[in-house]
Amino acid sequence: MSETIFGKIVAGELPADSVYEDELCMAIRDKFPTAPHHYLVIPKKPIPKLCDAGPEDQALLGHLMLVANQVAAQQGIGEAFRLVVNNGADAGQSVFHLHVHVIGGRSLSWPPG
Ligand code: 5GP
Repeated sequence: MSETIFGKIVAGELPADSVYEDELCMAIRDKFPTAPHHYLVIPKKPIPKLCDAGPEDQALLGHLMLVANQVAAQQGIGEAFRLVVNNGADAGQSVFHLHVHVIGGRSLSWPPG
């Protein structure tokens, strides 16, 4: 499906600690968490970066946000959490398969680095 780590995870070719899955996406625990709660919501469609998404992806992008909400609730994060999408290497993106970070469980400062 994709050459990236996340493409292989959603294809079932690499293991991951999954906390949610449906026909459009899955959510996994980040392997290198930056907070007590750190999940990645990953669409099964291999969109490399957010800026590669088009109008045809509108419903999918909304779905990822609602799944992030659901994961936060299911994992007991509470109402204080942050969603992050790093778009491009200079913005901190390291895996070029779109994903939404769900980060919580500690006090989060602003602005991010
Ligand atoms: P990015 O830097 O692209 O926004 O986020 C990539 C995230 O993927 C990072 O937070 C990193 O810790 C996580 N990550 C990298 N490799 C793996 C892996 O093999 N499994 C999981 N579950 N997370 C990974």
